[in-house]
Amino acid sequence: MRCPFCSAADTKVIDSRLVAEGDQVRRRRECLSCSERFTTYESAELLLPRIIKQSGVREPFNEDKLRQGILRALEKRPVSSEQIEAMLIQIKRILQASGEREVVSRVVGEEVMRQLKAVDHVAFVRFASVYRSFQDLNEFRVEIERLAEEQLSLPEP
Ligand SMILES: [Zn+2]
Repeated sequence: MRCPFCSAADTKVIDSRLVAEGDQVRRRRECLSCSERFTTYESAELLLPRIIKQSGVREPFNEDKLRQGILRALEKRPVSSEQIEAMLIQIKRILQASGEREVVSRVVGEEVMRQLKAVDHVAFVRFASVYRSFQDLNEFRVEIERLAEEQLSLPEP
């Protein structure tokens, strides 16, 4: 790797460690010519599939849009930023692992609901009511009833 200070071609790695919960490698490098040190980050580049909307229109996967949708559902809920980022990482992993070039938007929506349901029932219901409103009201009602039952059957603290 070329030195950013003097452009010499020879630099050596003096330290290498995993960061971002193992998703990145951080390397400290030293230039063999000018002895300046610098840092590089390395992460796997995995392609995310394009999203097929209900209209049939294809669009690139948009992480910011997904984050906004999740944040809206989680407004004023006791869920940390770290938990939200972990959800996004999980959703992206599932999409990447599918190996598909294109997936229908419903796959993403269902995955978001699955993740939200695990961390916060109120957020799940908010998201589901927006997401499913024009799709399947009956299915949604059944889901709400099931949640109510689950909460009733929780043991007393
Ligand atoms: Zn140098």
